Amino acid sequence: HLKDAASDLPDPREAALEALRRLGAQLPPAPDGAPSFTPTSPLSGHGLFPLPVTLPEEVGAAVDRAHEAFLTWRLVPAPARGALVRRFGDLLREHKADLATLVTLEAGKITAEALGEVQEMFDICDLAVGLSRQLEGRTMPSERPGHRLMETWHPLGVVGVISAFNFPAAVWSWNTAVALVCGDPVVWKPSETAPLTALGAAALLRRAAAELGAPEHLATVILGGRETGEALVAHPRVALLSATGSERMGAEVAPVVAARMGRTLLELGGNNAAIVTPSADLDLTVRGVVFSAVGTAGQRCTSLRRLIVHTSVVDEVLERLASAYRGLPIGDPREAGTLVGPLVSAAARDRMLAALEQARAEGGTVVTGGEAHALPAAPDAAYVTPALVQMPAQSPIVHTETFAPILYVLGYSDLDEAIAMHNAVPQGLSSSIFTLDQREAERFLGPDGSDCGIANVNIGTSGAEIGGAFGGEKSTGGGRESGSDAWRAYMRRATNTINYSADLPLAQGVDFG
Ligand code: NAD
Repeated sequence: HLKDAASDLPDPREAALEALRRLGAQLPPAPDGAPSFTPTSPLSGHGLFPLPVTLPEEVGAAVDRAHEAFLTWRLVPAPARGALVRRFGDLLREHKADLATLVTLEAGKITAEALGEVQEMFDICDLAVGLSRQLEGRTMPSERPGHRLMETWHPLGVVGVISAFNFPAAVWSWNTAVALVCGDPVVWKPSETAPLTALGAAALLRRAAAELGAPEHLATVILGGRETGEALVAHPRVALLSATGSERMGAEVAPVVAARMGRTLLELGGNNAAIVTPSADLDLTVRGVVFSAVGTAGQRCTSLRRLIVHTSVVDEVLERLASAYRGLPIGDPREAGTLVGPLVSAAARDRMLAALEQARAEGGTVVTGGEAHALPAAPDAAYVTPALVQMPAQSPIVHTETFAPILYVLGYSDLDEAIAMHNAVPQGLSSSIFTLDQREAERFLGPDGSDCGIANVNIGTSGAEIGGAFGGEKSTGGGRESGSDAWRAYMRRATNTINYSADLPLAQGVDFG
């Protein structure tokens, strides 16, 4: 099924330039001699455009300008701040296909998933507009007569966003739409793999801000890799650092922000599992598993990586999955019908092949897939066949997140054992159970069930909606963003006691003369 993705591939740069032009984005010049980087399109493995690296001192200046914008923006009433996000959402709707083109060219997502990513961006704008009238605090009864006790939520300050390659725009919008209605400007360090998507998305927000007369520096993009990110992380005026990426990155940034008593919102790696019980509807299970395991070529933080199947059905599940895997259309992600695009880089492909080697060495059997495909017209592009691997136990490789389409299948004989296996990995992002037995489902969702931030029943681990809070526990970092009450991370809470009496009674009945 592999189509030769690059044989008739028009130069991805032409499509990128056209999308950027339509989005109103300019490519910043990369002056001779100054540090620069060139992102690569996973479609063909060819370089796109050289871009300047934002130097640490320029990061500092960007944060300072964002702080200036904060001083005005925090005084704009929240529903008026919502008007900016409403306009931004309108522009995203209008330019859905343009932004999706950049997502496909830089992250390699199939068109349907790239469009879905942009859809998520205006979905969160809708949510944030509603939120702009609902940033509510509580009142509590005071123990003192003639007193009122209440809490108020205020804008926090500059939010630094560091994002990963695999959701090159949606993660920023989850943070930005909510931060803006909460009164906070955003400085964004996108993945060095997907800077064009960032420039395109930010151009729309800048246009919305100009139309509405909002401060110019509410949204800034800084470009580069780790060093640019490090300057953002260390800056004392970044009140909240929201960072999405690997567990390694999280372990590096968390202590730096903690040392200056800043706040972090960490969205790190997952090692997501589903349990398939004897009562599961296997047709539905196979569909849910295939989407979660091979969607985005296994490069979602919520991708399904472990399948824990009751021994009574494991052979049938494996057989059905193997047959579905063998029919997967792999190739050019822009072509209708393709379900599996390329991995992001040759390095990602090499990590997948090394993980499969290790799985074999640890007693695993590759049931199907796991081949890399060299395309004559694009030798540096990393197209692979998703792998289904039967493992005798949760050996070290199964405890590791390999960011590629590898699904490890394991057997279990009772639910306690399955839940223990499920929770035995360091990460705690997403999980699901396929069962028609209510007791099993409730047990999985209960206090001694899944230890993840996301726990589903009869759907896969990936494909979250923006209405819920998104994030995970343990080495996934503990952060929550997007819907529910995740907005609170972007605001500071003040507790207010108001005395409307003529007396001054002290709390706890303290007598002070
Ligand atoms: P990565 O950790 O290599 O890079 C992520 C971002 O962090 C990039 O912008 C990078 O430049 C920056 N960065 C790296 N080291 C840094 C440092 N020391 N200081 C400051 N910035 C630094 O991750 P990736 O390969 O782009 O993305 C894949 C990873 O992201 C996977 O582990 C995946 O599970 C995770 N992810 C998690 C979520 C989530 O919501 N939990 C969502 C998407 C991706």
